[in-house]
Amino acid sequence: MVMSYAEIAKQPEALRRTPNLGEWADERAGWSWDSVVAELDLPDGLVNQAHECIDRHAAASPDKVAMIWEGSDGSVERYSFDEMRRHSNRFANALAALGIGKAERVFFFTDRIPELYFACFGTLKRGAIIAPLFSAFGPEPVKERIERAEGSVVVTTPNLLPKINAIRSDLPSLRHVIVIAHRAGAEVAPEDLDYQELVRDASEEYEIERTGSEDWSVMHFTSGTTGLPKGAAHVHNAVISHYATGKYVLDLHADDVYWCTADPGWVTGTSYGMFAPWSNGVTNLIYEGGFGASRWYETIARHNVTVWYTAPTAIRLLMKAGSDAARRHDLSSLRYVMSVGEPLNPEGVVWGEDAFQLPIHDNWWQTETGAIMIANYIGMPIRPGSMGRPFPGIEAAIIDDQFQPVDEPMKEGQLALKPGWPSMFRTYWNDQERYDSRFKGGWYLTGDRAKRDADGYFWFVGRDDDVINTAGHLVGPFEVESALIEHDSVAEAGVIGKPDPVAMEIVKAFVSLAAGVEPSERLRRELTRHCRERLGPGVAPREIEFIDTLPKTRSGKIMRRLLKARELGLPEGDTSTLEDD
Ligand code: ATP
Ligand code: MG
Repeated sequence: MVMSYAEIAKQPEALRRTPNLGEWADERAGWSWDSVVAELDLPDGLVNQAHECIDRHAAASPDKVAMIWEGSDGSVERYSFDEMRRHSNRFANALAALGIGKAERVFFFTDRIPELYFACFGTLKRGAIIAPLFSAFGPEPVKERIERAEGSVVVTTPNLLPKINAIRSDLPSLRHVIVIAHRAGAEVAPEDLDYQELVRDASEEYEIERTGSEDWSVMHFTSGTTGLPKGAAHVHNAVISHYATGKYVLDLHADDVYWCTADPGWVTGTSYGMFAPWSNGVTNLIYEGGFGASRWYETIARHNVTVWYTAPTAIRLLMKAGSDAARRHDLSSLRYVMSVGEPLNPEGVVWGEDAFQLPIHDNWWQTETGAIMIANYIGMPIRPGSMGRPFPGIEAAIIDDQFQPVDEPMKEGQLALKPGWPSMFRTYWNDQERYDSRFKGGWYLTGDRAKRDADGYFWFVGRDDDVINTAGHLVGPFEVESALIEHDSVAEAGVIGKPDPVAMEIVKAFVSLAAGVEPSERLRRELTRHCRERLGPGVAPREIEFIDTLPKTRSGKIMRRLLKARELGLPEGDTSTLEDD
């Protein structure tokens, strides 16, 4: 399934610019984080993410469009780097006037509106920590997170305010609720602060706090795919990784129009929805609306998006809508498409070629890593189903149970990273013990299992907790799921290990079917046969159950632990990030 370089090079769209990253092996050999730092503006050891993303570019190209915002109602607003600078300064001054100081936690619980971005950068300028939450959370998960991080402020919108009101009396740390009301034309209650009023009289000038590389900047709760979400805390130094991966993985060029579909409630929506594009001075599209195949294609066409970063769950939905739906739109502006969040099934990579004449490039990272660690680069041959190769400044390894690197190709083990890259998280907030437990034998342990081939490409096997031990074989759910979704009748699949007295575990698959396909015994037998042919009888699922939809996190990840808990009648654990049915 390896696509040759010649095949990719045949696609003039993909390579119509010289990629920023040269030959991978050469870049790796000659890599220096210092030369990345030299491209940024870090005087006297000071670093501030808002300065690197906004003020630096406002000084160099004040009128360049930083943000194109498209609201759910179709209205479009544009903000230059200098406007972003002034709006964020006003908010920084407003926070200062409220007495909010360095390292205090400012939560964001809003829709994707321009003020969210102004206020996030204003908070970073103030030296406080931004903690964005996904707007679809109910009151309990919001309360739990604000409580755990002892948040001082919540910035919200009138539609979400009732959820805050339901919990605020339980949150003694919460001093201010700031409501962005003007867009909705709503009144602000006396106990709340009106965003518009706070910034109206605030100065447009603000001297950024003197934050250093180790000062806190962002707190992100993990997706909760494997258990209780953890509050991973990051520092301003992370912007070095955001800039470098924006340049070399997203391949951002000055005239790109970039769109990342993730919400800032998840780390992709901040690292790659804010920091990577803006630290590279690129025009960034913020789309307020939710998923819809035609809507998304129209958005790409309307704004001439060139570089697009999305997720497997969206790609699977686009695949369901069919490549004809893509071809009905003029998507000729697109030159590069990437995916993250879950493994991208090889089917997805190849489908991209059919729909956009562009293969989809998978890359791997985590909330904890703060930035992309392993990637399929634009100028490197893709191996569909592989996460790609480590970023030049990153050392990644497969390690065994004694934390020793495994050199043998395609031998499975835990994926580990050599600590010390700029965007590495610095703690789990209020849970230092758990943080410490993730570092062993000189490695950061990712909790993911993978293999590396002889050419240095990494192949995802599964989460540590999800790997199945059946009759002595270790089976990763991903390969079984990928085989299932190759079948035309299958839309999505989630695979678990089900305890078995003889085999220890058997492979069980939950399958949701493509539109118009009905479950039947015949189909079940056909899928079993298909998997046996593709995977061999030891790995193919012994049980297949048809279900309407798979349980997923709100960020779109299949929650195998829930499939398993439900199968075994066990408690479901934390379900705060579970998507509504
Ligand atoms: P939690 O840690 O709360 O269980 P989570 O691990 O899903 O949630 P994130 O930090 O958002 O939270 O996700 C990172 C994880 O997502 C990775 O550890 C990996 O398991 C998975 N992942 C992300 N990108 C990829 C990819 N390209 N291929 C395979 N897996 C991926
Ligand atoms: Mg995780």
